[in-house]
Amino acid sequence: MANREIIIVGGGMVGALSALLLAQHGDTLHLIEKSSVQMPAQDAPFDLRVSAFSAQSKHLLEQAGVWDDIPLERLCAYQGLQTWEKVSQKLVFSSDDIGAEQLGYIAENRWIQAVLWQRLKQLANVHFYENTQVVDITQGLEQDNGKNHQRVTVTLADQQIIKAELLLACDGGNSAVRKHLQMPVTSWDYRQHCLLINITTDCPQQSVTWQEFRETGPCAFLPLAGNNASLVWYHSPQKIKQLQSLTNQQLKQAILTEFPKLDFDFEVHNKGGFPLVRRHAKHYYQGSVVLVGDAAHSINPLAGQGVNLGFKDVQCLVELLTQCSDLPIPELLKRYQCQRRPANLLMQTGMDVFYKVSKSDDPLIRIIRKSFLGVAQQSGQIKNRVMRYAMGIN
Ligand SMILES: Cc1cc2nc3c(=O)[nH]c(=O)nc-3n(C[C@H](O)[C@H](O)[C@H](O)COP(=O)(O)OP(=O)(O)OC[C@H]3O[C@@H](n4cnc5c(N)ncnc54)[C@H](O)[C@@H]3O)c2cc1C
Repeated sequence: MANREIIIVGGGMVGALSALLLAQHGDTLHLIEKSSVQMPAQDAPFDLRVSAFSAQSKHLLEQAGVWDDIPLERLCAYQGLQTWEKVSQKLVFSSDDIGAEQLGYIAENRWIQAVLWQRLKQLANVHFYENTQVVDITQGLEQDNGKNHQRVTVTLADQQIIKAELLLACDGGNSAVRKHLQMPVTSWDYRQHCLLINITTDCPQQSVTWQEFRETGPCAFLPLAGNNASLVWYHSPQKIKQLQSLTNQQLKQAILTEFPKLDFDFEVHNKGGFPLVRRHAKHYYQGSVVLVGDAAHSINPLAGQGVNLGFKDVQCLVELLTQCSDLPIPELLKRYQCQRRPANLLMQTGMDVFYKVSKSDDPLIRIIRKSFLGVAQQSGQIKNRVMRYAMGIN
């Protein structure tokens, strides 16, 4: 069993899962997180940041032993996914079509992070550095027992120094580690924001998530546990700013008149706007520092794939580190980049094409788009393959 010394910067969902899987394997982990992570109260109002988790992501969380720690009252399994353009045929995905019990689960990001941290806190081989940040990172050869070893050295804001063989940058889309090492990215602003709106409904809305495409951007519905749901409204930055300035009652009126029709009464509880930015690091590693999750790639959230891709990064990197432990770190990181970068790029590009096509008002593209939805709905096997791919069970 390998016993590496590993630093992880960023204890979000991706960093915490990486830390737990590696610590369970016997490595010594140093987890640096700029905030502090608390277990939310089970009856707290739902947080705005929620994600749809694929079957594969669920499997990884099970493997880490935390899936059953997520309270059932905070977890919503969904069996149907519907998407359509105004007045076009609906494209309907159903778990029944592929003999699965559900297509995925929707949960708050903070609960996934919290259950991972709860387990991490029980392990003696994990050292925590909370409410602090990295101020310097250096890399170089150091002598140990007459042998040269590649080491990465991190200095924290309080001048603590940590040394390790490997550093995982899991510090999100604005990764300070990536910036510090001047690792280049390709990026652009979609010139679109989305408003996340938490509502309570007058009846359970638990089994289907849907998305309507409009020229101004998609409008989506994500069921949450109990009589709760999340609405996602994509629009121009100006429009989102205006919607955000409304009172909850005024926003409800705007939803009733401008959002796709909801078949139930509801109350607005919380809202928050987020800019949509696409980023992809040109290289996933530099020396012994490797980018994982959003630090390496941020994707348009319209297909709910961001953290699922991040978890696939984690799975790939952990497998390489634990199953090919005789290989030197640079070779392991090269393999990680070769496996994950093309896969993430494919998903990012697919989402961009989908996004561009869904917003185009070119008459020809509109006809093709509507025909595509009709053909896709009739396509049986192809539709099921798409569904399996999105669930990570292809
Ligand atoms: C509106 C919206 C909806 C989305 N919906 C979905 C969805 O349905 N399904 C899905 O799969 N994905 C979704 N995503 C994407 C998903 O939220 C991200 O992919 C995911 O949060 C990335 O996790 P991460 O751990 O890599 O980064 P983050 O969640 O950004 O976590 C980074 C962590 O690092 C810490 N940190 C940051 N800087 C530092 C520093 N300098 N030092 C130390 N710590 C630091 C932060 O405090 C945080 O804990 C959505 C994204 C958005 C914006």
